[in-house]
Amino acid sequence: MTAPATSPASANALDLTTEIARDLIRFDTTNYGEGRSNGETDAAEYVAEKLRALGLAPELFDSEPGRTSVVARVPGRDRSKGALVVHGHLDVVPADPANWSVDPFGGEIKDGMLWGRGAVDMKNMDAMILASLTDVLDQGGQPERDLVIAFFADEEAGGVFGSHHLVDTRPDLFAGATEAISEVGGYSISIGGQRAYLLQTGEKALIWLKLVAHGPAGHGSRLVTDNAITRLAEAVAKVGRRQWPIRLTNTTRQLLSEIARILSVEPQSMGPDELALATGTASGFIQASLRTTMNPTVLQAGYKHNVIPDRAEALIDVRSLPGEEDAVLAELAELVGPDIEIVVMHQDVGLETEFAGPLIDRIVQTLGTHDPGAPVLPYLMPAGTDNKALSKLGIKGYGFAPLKLPADLDFPALFHGVDERVPLDALVFGRTVLTDLLTTY
Ligand SMILES: [Zn+2]
Repeated sequence: MTAPATSPASANALDLTTEIARDLIRFDTTNYGEGRSNGETDAAEYVAEKLRALGLAPELFDSEPGRTSVVARVPGRDRSKGALVVHGHLDVVPADPANWSVDPFGGEIKDGMLWGRGAVDMKNMDAMILASLTDVLDQGGQPERDLVIAFFADEEAGGVFGSHHLVDTRPDLFAGATEAISEVGGYSISIGGQRAYLLQTGEKALIWLKLVAHGPAGHGSRLVTDNAITRLAEAVAKVGRRQWPIRLTNTTRQLLSEIARILSVEPQSMGPDELALATGTASGFIQASLRTTMNPTVLQAGYKHNVIPDRAEALIDVRSLPGEEDAVLAELAELVGPDIEIVVMHQDVGLETEFAGPLIDRIVQTLGTHDPGAPVLPYLMPAGTDNKALSKLGIKGYGFAPLKLPADLDFPALFHGVDERVPLDALVFGRTVLTDLLTTY
């Protein structure tokens, strides 16, 4: 295991992880959704070059022009063990520079942090993967088991042009793989002053819906009772105001009892939301993992102040608890009524894996070595990752991008947030932990 001898914060001695993450941030790989994107090819070529420099033979795949993913296999010492997929995505969500205090694509380093779109989601982990691979392969070393290293396009729009495309067209790339690790887990939070790590062992299901109301077009001065915008607005308000009940799954039940244990309270003495709130900055993620959520996100209708349009549309982002998708869709249809057309634009599965087994044990032990005494807790991610696509091949995916973070940093808010940034020493921590894991598991 290689630990950098120099201080990562000193100006001329950037840790390799920081250097790679900064380079990746400077490729503007913005994904606008619905097939519109700046593309990932330049970032993919960069990543492939780093892999080639390690003696690996990466393959590049374009699902569409500009939508490039990269995959490389690293042979392990024990090839009888199932391969581990270690994956990241190369695209990022849009960033409006007007809202930021730095250039979102400048890769600026200040206040001991790396700033920019992707610093958290997830060029940080992309860089940690490459830096720890460098450590593992250093001087002829090998990982314990085969690794499938994958950098996907299009995660931020559901992976249609990235992970799903590769899983559907080239499943052979993942032959023998049984487990995967990637983003949105492994970071530290603070519970009652105690640092703890959230390990993502599940993801809610994703249903992206469009609601459409139809009505007669006409002059804006007419007496009209079935205006499409009015009917859509009523439906959107019902959906947006619906409070979905709490339903605990194995993961959230276990998480809440662990939180109660850390707080030294009886689990029954505090409600689920109250326990979630005790996790401070992480509570937004955790409260959303306790129930289904439905958020109206886009409204579209009309073209002239004095014309009633014949159509009004709204996009709804539904995140259902795993296994509840059909029931949730049925209830939504009842909520909006028969006059509103419901179009499913994109749907993907929910996942939930046991917080047990050799990989979990190894992760807990590794974090215990590098941050002794900090408990590791399972959690259900309210959003989704490329693990959904890999699950089609029976691969169990976890969120494990290890970062030891200062208690006062609202890290969950930085996902898709303004002034996205990551502490440099957290990147070094992640590199070290990942190196240790890949060498020993
Ligand atoms: Zn991400």
